[in-house]
Amino acid sequence: MSDPSTPIRVRFAPSPTGFLHVGGARTALFNYLLARSQGGSFLLRIEDTDLERSTPEMVNAILEGLTWLGLEWDEEPVYQSKNRSAHVDAANQLLEQGHSYRCFCSKEVLDSKRRKAEEEGCAYRYDGTCRNLSPDEIEDNLKEKKPFVVRFSVPREGITRFKDIVRKNVEVQNSEIDDFVILRSDGSPVYQLAVVVDDIAMEVTHIIRGEDHISNTPKQILLYLALGAKPPRFGHVPLILGTDGKRLSKRHGATSVLAFAEQGILPEAMFNFLALLGWSAKDNREFYQPEEIIQHFQPAGFNKTPAVFDEDKLQWLNSQHIKVLPVTELLKRVQPVFNQHDLGEAFDAAGEAFNLKALALLQEKMRTLQEFATFGKYFWVDPVQYSEAAVERHFKAEGVSENLEAVWTALAQCGPFEVGQIEARIRALADELGVKAAGLIHPIRVALTGFHVSPSLFDMMAVLGQETCLRRLQNAVAYLKT
Ligand code: GLU
Repeated sequence: MSDPSTPIRVRFAPSPTGFLHVGGARTALFNYLLARSQGGSFLLRIEDTDLERSTPEMVNAILEGLTWLGLEWDEEPVYQSKNRSAHVDAANQLLEQGHSYRCFCSKEVLDSKRRKAEEEGCAYRYDGTCRNLSPDEIEDNLKEKKPFVVRFSVPREGITRFKDIVRKNVEVQNSEIDDFVILRSDGSPVYQLAVVVDDIAMEVTHIIRGEDHISNTPKQILLYLALGAKPPRFGHVPLILGTDGKRLSKRHGATSVLAFAEQGILPEAMFNFLALLGWSAKDNREFYQPEEIIQHFQPAGFNKTPAVFDEDKLQWLNSQHIKVLPVTELLKRVQPVFNQHDLGEAFDAAGEAFNLKALALLQEKMRTLQEFATFGKYFWVDPVQYSEAAVERHFKAEGVSENLEAVWTALAQCGPFEVGQIEARIRALADELGVKAAGLIHPIRVALTGFHVSPSLFDMMAVLGQETCLRRLQNAVAYLKT
């Protein structure tokens, strides 16, 4: 897909006016994947020309989001605001070479033409009044200090076409492209010009971005050609929709990447999930580690249909990534979550050997890192309450408190407190009491955890230890008797 003699250079070019959201992160990821899968470079350009809306905090938040996802960039980030003189020079070059012109039309005149077009139901396009001003007219206007913008002189004839990496061929009649502004009346460069000048300077070879940019591409290609540069290859990935079929937005809940980090999503799961938002491997496999995606990544796998952001799928993928984490690594990842939930002391006090065993059991069940400290907290602290659902299902039956007392007695004399032994004791007791084993297992689980779901009960009891199990059984009996 590229000339092998020219190494691939791609860029992510966020405007730092907000956090790194899902759409931006996906754009960054696709460019990163293209570079890393083909030995190219992934560059970063901060498009901070809107000085009022761009803030250093947002720049940091974007860098933090990229770093969290593992999207390491090559070379120093480029700050677009620092390239302003190069943008202005390019505009002047275009003026000198007749590819652009000064437009002195006032805002009032343009507004009234726009209104008229709207009333007539036509698409408004600049009518080219200033395109053919004579040198004398221009001179006079300049002498009168009339404000002007610089417009690109779009060829009236011909077609601008490009082979989109995602959607194949795109073509637009030049006659449909407006003579767009490249310098505002205050002399500041407009996005279309700045982006092209910077991409030329950074020697960008491929640009993957959202489909919302597709109408910019023909204009940018015309600018490349006018500036005597070879346009890069473009690929426009479809929009991301929510599960309701509407374009993903804040209405759908968290869309900032770091908000997902706070919810306990692993970066590798987010990486995996974002890659599947608009790309798939030939075999439609879903679970991948980041390095496997890099290995399998082929631009031919880009999808043309909109991607759907399904949080359930993200959580499912996260649970799969949690399952395969080496438990010593998991320990490092959950430590901050325990601190956040004021369980840091209990976690440390339990000791590493205990924590590793507890995490190994929990990791089969948990969907997020947060859940280790919410649903899984019973490994470190006694339950202070029992969930309503658990009480409803398993604490309401006849004889529960007596049965739990009998369990207490059986476990107090259990001998070595090991999985096989615990299980044998409880099953024997169920026989003695003439109840099904499940009739004991469920209430024991509630007594020990406060919930009606947990990892395998006997394994869990062996990890918790005899003393803790007995104490919690006693607490449950006391609760049931009040
Ligand atoms: N700063 C633009 C954006 O955030 C970059 C667009 C482009 O890729 O050209 O949408």
